[in-house]
Amino acid sequence: MSTPTVHVISHPLVQHKLTLMRRKELSTSSFRRLLHEISMLMAYEVTRDMPMQMIEIETPLEKMQSPVIEGRKTVFVVIMRAGSGILEGMLEVVPGARVGHIGLYRDPKTLVAVEYYFKMPQDMHERDAIVLDPMLATGNSAVAAVERLKETRPKSIRFVSLLAAPEGLASFHRSHPDVPVYTAAIDRQLNDHGYIVPGLGDAGDRIFGTK
Ligand code: URA
Repeated sequence: MSTPTVHVISHPLVQHKLTLMRRKELSTSSFRRLLHEISMLMAYEVTRDMPMQMIEIETPLEKMQSPVIEGRKTVFVVIMRAGSGILEGMLEVVPGARVGHIGLYRDPKTLVAVEYYFKMPQDMHERDAIVLDPMLATGNSAVAAVERLKETRPKSIRFVSLLAAPEGLASFHRSHPDVPVYTAAIDRQLNDHGYIVPGLGDAGDRIFGTK
């Protein structure tokens, strides 16, 4: 049985940008820009031990074997819709990655995740999956998404969220102790509506300006 792992990315640049993003007066365009920047920085941490391969290149002086990331073996799995806010920054750093999508909505009464879309690249058994969802709140959608993803048998799975609630982390770990979580902060708790507090509000609404 694996021991659940949480990596809190405490790099000052990540923490600084997260503080700016939490502020309620921040405009939609600034929120989006900061999410883009913070996603690139988080990608740095999440891909730290990514598989590498040696290729032959030629410098101006001679031939050599040099390491490159096996980018095409990585698949970013976006939990729609807020996960797409993290995707662009990640793709900027790993441009060769493939992208899968999982559509889930939270039933407003039960807060349970209901699937409405699922599309992954082929040959998932050869790929390392990095699941993207900015808010690990109740954990219901994260648990359901990873459960569904596991049916495609990827080589490995990591989960990236900008913010996590202790309740969501506990529930996620109960269901998927083998999946490491990368987050910029673990906030105090969930409120009665399933929002993370202090949090940053509804990530989807803040990315897309829908409220
Ligand atoms: N989803 C959000 O966008 N924000 C929360 O605080 C919880 C879930």
